[in-house]
Amino acid sequence: MTIEGWASLQTELLQSVGKNNYVTWIEPLKLIALEDGVARFDVPTVFFGDWVSRNFSDPIRQLFSKSGVVVDRLEFKVSAPSKFVSVGRKAPVKIRPTQDDEVPSAPLDARFTFDSFVVGKPNELAHAAARRVAEGDSVSFNPLFLYGGVGLGKTHLMHAIAQELSQRRPDLRVLYLSAEQFMYRFVQALRERQVMGFKELFRSVDVLMVDDVQFIAGKDSTQEEFFHTFNALIDQNKQIVISADRAPGEIKDLEERIKSRLQCGLVVDLHPTDYELRLGILRQKVDYYRQQYQGLTLVDGVLEFLAHRITTNVRVLEGALTRLFAFANLVGREITLELTQDCLSDILRASDRKITIEEIQRKVSEHYSIRLSDMIGPKRLRTIARPRQVAMYLAKQLTPRSLPEIGRRFGGRDHTTIIHGVRKIEELMSIDSQLSDDLQILKRILQA
Ligand code: ADP
Ligand code: MG
Repeated sequence: MTIEGWASLQTELLQSVGKNNYVTWIEPLKLIALEDGVARFDVPTVFFGDWVSRNFSDPIRQLFSKSGVVVDRLEFKVSAPSKFVSVGRKAPVKIRPTQDDEVPSAPLDARFTFDSFVVGKPNELAHAAARRVAEGDSVSFNPLFLYGGVGLGKTHLMHAIAQELSQRRPDLRVLYLSAEQFMYRFVQALRERQVMGFKELFRSVDVLMVDDVQFIAGKDSTQEEFFHTFNALIDQNKQIVISADRAPGEIKDLEERIKSRLQCGLVVDLHPTDYELRLGILRQKVDYYRQQYQGLTLVDGVLEFLAHRITTNVRVLEGALTRLFAFANLVGREITLELTQDCLSDILRASDRKITIEEIQRKVSEHYSIRLSDMIGPKRLRTIARPRQVAMYLAKQLTPRSLPEIGRRFGGRDHTTIIHGVRKIEELMSIDSQLSDDLQILKRILQA
């Protein structure tokens, strides 16, 4: 086999290592020599070589042997530095970021500040923790891990931290980006043979903020790099702030060691909004719209109506208000309840989705891997009775159904049985953390 043969040979690895790995690790490999059972490759960095050697030696050797070449050993050589400074026709890129280099943070939304963040019971802890980090005095908990469902204010809080920090501590290098951007930059660095530059850049910041970290789950090489960056910064006592749509332990396909690292600091969640918080947010936004659309009047009760009816998330709530004001402005009418219902009928209908007892029974039985029929059946085994009680509890909590009605849907049980079940769960909830986790997950699934 010739050295040129390698190029066509290497594509055969695409299947066995997967596209991500292939693009990141295999494609950049250049075979520079093949003799005496040793295959020598040119790689951009030592790290790169180590990584390929540890993870892809076997498939590469098998590939050679399939094509009739016996290779006992793989060697990885870093090419001369001059080679990876200049990238194609682009101007040479500096490898080492100096103090004067601007940290290439993702753009921040100027509206996402602490001033514009409305605090209520569901988000007070997350807000307090974010405020603390934004003081920038000392690293009190590391990392700060914020999680919660879509549109509950994670990104808003992250931007608020970054903006506050840049005012209070202009000396600190703050890097904010989404996990997707992290991956994109990492892959790009690999392609352009700038991995060292990438590493040094990320290790030179004082505060690293990564939004929506669940994105890197299942993306192996990116996870690995994230893990190293994360550890290096923690070791240097640099602040890290992470957000995700769920708790570290609940992120599928995220390596165990990363999960446990993420849990080491402070983990706080943004709970689904409650009525008061929604009303508070609406009031704040209305003040803004009043200035923008002067002369528009808003009838009493409209905001309360919206806060009551749109319970999905803040983004939808804001969208509704924006549309309402734009529409009223267009038609030149005052904002009444009737106008609101007309203008927002689709949003209101979508928010109308009611959780049913059947749905609760289905999700709970899936969660505990029991049969749906056991929900209504007579079995008293603990492994079945407990999930059934969980479903009873959730039915009471999440639907407006009466106890006798719930009893009927659980195979015609008496309402006192339902009361007993609900109480049992309430009692256990405070002492059994597994159970309280289960309840949280189930609620989130059902309310999604
Ligand atoms: P997430 O990142 O959790 O999906 P965002 O931070 O993007 O959600 O929030 C969605 C929208 O809702 C943004 O416009 C944000 O300003 C707004 N928002 C969320 N929570 C609040 C709050 N407590 N006060 C004011 N605005 C909020
Ligand atoms: Mg977000």
